[in-house]
Amino acid sequence: LVGCIHALFLSPMNCYGSHGEAISTTDRMYLESLSLQGTLTFDNTTASATDWGQLRSQLPPSGVMHPTSVDDIATVVAAVARSESELTVAARGLGSSIWGQSQAHNGIVIEMTSLKGIKVAPLGDAASNGVPFVEAMGGEMWVDVLTTSLEYGLAPRSWTDYLYLTVGGTLSNAGVSGQSFRHGPEVSNVLQLEVVTGTGEVVVCSATKSSELFFAVLGGLGQFGIIAKARIVLEVAPQRVRWIRAIYTDFATFKADQELLIGAAQPFDYVEGFVVLNNENAINGWGSVPFVRSDINAAMIPGHAGAIMYCLEVTKAYSAAALPTLDQVVESMLAPLSFHRGLLFEKDTTYFKFLDRVHEVEMELRAHGLWEIPHPWLNIFVPASSIDRFNTLVFKPIATQEFSGPILVYPVNKSKWDKRLSVAVPEGPEEIFYIVAFLRNKLPDTIGGPSLTEMLDYNESVLRICESLHCKQYLPHYEDRNKWTHHFGSKWDLFVQNKQLFDPCAILSPGLNIFTRGR
Ligand code: FAD
Repeated sequence: LVGCIHALFLSPMNCYGSHGEAISTTDRMYLESLSLQGTLTFDNTTASATDWGQLRSQLPPSGVMHPTSVDDIATVVAAVARSESELTVAARGLGSSIWGQSQAHNGIVIEMTSLKGIKVAPLGDAASNGVPFVEAMGGEMWVDVLTTSLEYGLAPRSWTDYLYLTVGGTLSNAGVSGQSFRHGPEVSNVLQLEVVTGTGEVVVCSATKSSELFFAVLGGLGQFGIIAKARIVLEVAPQRVRWIRAIYTDFATFKADQELLIGAAQPFDYVEGFVVLNNENAINGWGSVPFVRSDINAAMIPGHAGAIMYCLEVTKAYSAAALPTLDQVVESMLAPLSFHRGLLFEKDTTYFKFLDRVHEVEMELRAHGLWEIPHPWLNIFVPASSIDRFNTLVFKPIATQEFSGPILVYPVNKSKWDKRLSVAVPEGPEEIFYIVAFLRNKLPDTIGGPSLTEMLDYNESVLRICESLHCKQYLPHYEDRNKWTHHFGSKWDLFVQNKQLFDPCAILSPGLNIFTRGR
């Protein structure tokens, strides 16, 4: 298949290749001769080869560009596509990937965060039918998109759990959180993109204009173009939220309630959940559920509870004017649910603080030197019809493990994911699938816990179970390139076709290990 890409596009694009060496003198001189507003350096490039996972040994790029205009990106991408070598290009957001997805060994990394700009259109425009939107450069962080939008009393409606991620980086994957059941992932909330394709062409696209490129790029793992700008739908921002957590001892009841909530006519604004170990572990034991640790103790856990419990997490947005009736409203929304009544915990906070909640955890972990450590994370989409088996085969045995990190599990509605998006979701007619995230940290040896090898072996064992349960990896990574065909399933042929159209020399995002640059 890769050969097919090469064969197809040797002409007319003239894609050349040598043998994977570091940059040649000719290429370097050629790139140095380009007229750029930003900078392109070939020294000290190792910082651009780091990521959140810390699982890929340092594979530094040859060059690093800090663009200050979209033209800078287009100029460098076009030059790389024309070069007579195997040079590649990766856009890098904040390197929040696990497996080197934003790296380009011996290629050029474009540090997208150097390109700044966030503009709010509070009244929208004709193309958006008056729907307000924010236009952000691809390297802007979601936290800054939120802060700027809030100045207008507006906010995006779909999020990730953590906001120190870039717009382009999350839109290249999907961007999921507790709002996804209602508004779809972040990729379902984009009105327009400005994209630099793999040939260096700058294209403005949307669902109605150059739509092939638009849908290819959203969830496209950086394979079809670099997101220079994105227009994101805004809604009136809630002022405050009531943040609620409730414990279940039984998976069937937990699952039934989560699915009830995501289909409710008047839903909560956010629905997530996580696995809780029936122990005092600070990270994922029952002590991690209440907002104030002293609000729970061992005597409160029902005697019949097994080694694994589950926590539902929801929020209800409200304005100051709605406060007098809030208790009553929330009570009626919780009434049909079957959590343990004595194990309900609530907290009121501002909308910003709720959305920025993981940043508080970050500050704490940083203070203890536990933020910049290896993260062998694994994210999976599990079809609803497989989630009971997943609970039996994967969640329940976790009780016997030392598991240093949260385990998220929450359902979303597939109809909120446009079929034309590149992102691979479980196939078939089922409306619901679950987002499951094993957010495990490799603690320093001085603290103890399983080795990195043991954790990675564990992930592999989960992925083997997933094969028979028809799951899809989210933020996918495969060492074996052949597995991409299976991953994309019915979307694979279009994925390849789009690669041929928009990045014919296969220069973009080589860290994914899907295609090889043509020779
Ligand atoms: P990078 O990791 O730098 O890049 C990711 C990929 O996108 C690479 O292939 C890169 O080449 C490509 N890319 C980067 N920028 C662009 C661009 N402008 N145009 C085209 N391609 C580009 N994800 C969720 O969905 N939900 C969550 O709740 C969530 N929580 C997270 C919490 C933490 C603490 C961390 C570290 C990550 C979390 N993620 C979550 C994962 C996150 O969405 C991905 O790591 C994503 O890649 C964004 O990271 P980034 O902006 O640093 O991109």
